Order: sequence, then structure tokens, then C-alpha cells
Amino acid sequence: MKCPFCSSDDTRVVNSRPSDEGAAIRRRRECNACHRRFTTYERAQFEALMVRKRSGRREVFDPDKLVAKLRIACNKRPVSEKQLRAFAYAFEDEVSLPEISSEEIGRRTLALLKHLDDVAYIRFLSVYRDFESVERFIEEIRQLSGERGATTQPSLEDIAVEKLQKLRRD
Ligand SMILES: [Zn+2]
Repeated sequence: MKCPFCSSDDTRVVNSRPSDEGAAIRRRRECNACHRRFTTYERAQFEALMVRKRSGRREVFDPDKLVAKLRIACNKRPVSEKQLRAFAYAFEDEVSLPEISSEEIGRRTLALLKHLDDVAYIRFLSVYRDFESVERFIEEIRQLSGERGATTQPSLEDIAVEKLQKLRRD
């Protein structure tokens, strides 16, 4: 970043913080040549996919964040890092709207995991759904068990019980 006063290329960031409710990043810079300070704003272009959070706050969609969450859900499961990255990075291109809700991201992620791995699906579901009701969670497990037939039922129920026990402890 060039200094607006003396045009030197030798400038550094002194501090940076979110601005405009996270829609921009404000950076305070100092020129190493003339030692004057100036401010820059890094703002997402309209093309960048924005995520509307439950709180109403908005932030730029970050595929790496999504991969990190998926990685936790898929820990020690037969799902490759490549599959997770492919999903998270394709996301931005597939969504044609400039904005998406975090709930919608969760729904799509659940749809992917349901297809890839039952255990990862349940794990993500338990974290994501916020547990507005335990009954709703049990209902999801029942539906999934029904769809998968009797063979996967014991393991799904085990996971559900484990999650519910953890929930009661927290
Ligand atoms: Zn300067």
C-alpha cells in the first residue's frame, strides 16, 4: 500500500479492526518513510457472498471456516479432506444470491453429510441445530434411521444417546 503523502511503498499496518458491523475492515497504517498515518478500508465487493447470521449480523462467506466445521464433524470418518474442500469452495459459485443465511448454509451442509456419512451428519446436526428442542433432534434421528433401514439403526441411536447425554450435562 502506497503512502498517500509521500508515495513510498514502505508502509505498515499499525492496527486493524472490523468496521461497519463487520462489512469492512479498517486498517490504520503508518508510512516508514515520512511516518505519517492513514486509514484504509477493505470492503467486500457485491459479488462476494455474504452470510446473514442469526443475530442479524452479516459477514463475508469464508469457505475455510466451513471446512473447519466439516472437519470436526468428519473426524475419523471415511470422508476425505478433498471432498470437504470441494464442497465448501464450490458453494460460493453455486449460490446465485448475493446473500445467504447461516441457516441455509447449515441445511445444505446437512444435505451433503447425510449423503456422505451418517455419523458426521449426526455430529453436525447436533452442533448446528442449536437444540431449540431435544424432541426435534430425536425426530431427525428417527427419520434418518427409518430411511437407512434397520442395519444402521443401532449406531445412530448410540450417537443420539451420547449427544443427548452431553446436552443434559452442559
Ligand atoms: Zn509517507
